Amino acid sequence: MGVPRNLEETAIFQVQALGYKPKDVKYIIQTHLHIDHAWGLADFPWAEVHVHATEYQAIQNPKGFMEFAYIQYHWDHQPRWVRHKESMVDWFGLEAIPILETPEYDFLFIPLHGHTRGHCGVAIGKPGSWLLHCGDAASPFYRGADLHNRDKSVQKLNILPKSLANRILGDHMPRLRKILEEHGDEVKAISAHDIFSFWEYTSL
Ligand SMILES: [Zn+2]
Repeated sequence: MGVPRNLEETAIFQVQALGYKPKDVKYIIQTHLHIDHAWGLADFPWAEVHVHATEYQAIQNPKGFMEFAYIQYHWDHQPRWVRHKESMVDWFGLEAIPILETPEYDFLFIPLHGHTRGHCGVAIGKPGSWLLHCGDAASPFYRGADLHNRDKSVQKLNILPKSLANRILGDHMPRLRKILEEHGDEVKAISAHDIFSFWEYTSL
């Protein structure tokens, strides 16, 4: 949101900057399909696109003001959708849906519906070391926000009235905060628009 329209910031450029070929991207896992999360999909038409089944239903028939932010031409190229629904495992007290397993990392959908009907977080890691990408279900919400207060205009984003925050993000913050408090040695968290965590994890 508000990013410069600079091609070098697109996913396909950043993948190549890391030394990979675009075709190395075989799987894309979407927390949800809002405009600011899905715009690069057409650059990877060969990749499997993993979504929660309810999110897939939502883009077919958007409802309510939060679902105005789907742009139908983002999937005109007919992505190779993989839809997930079954809740099969427990992840720190939350329901989790296994998506993919690799020797290094497991990938799980953590349903955090509310921002959109099928919105999910994505847990990435192995037992003992996880990163939870909260998508748009959380604003900056832990100590890092104070430690990295470089820009007061950014921190204002934290001061959403609770009712508005619940409407925009869903009501998951207490559960997410509890996981970080109780399992902070095993779980890190970041959300899609969380510049504070980004600074912390990348040491920029
Ligand atoms: Zn969103």
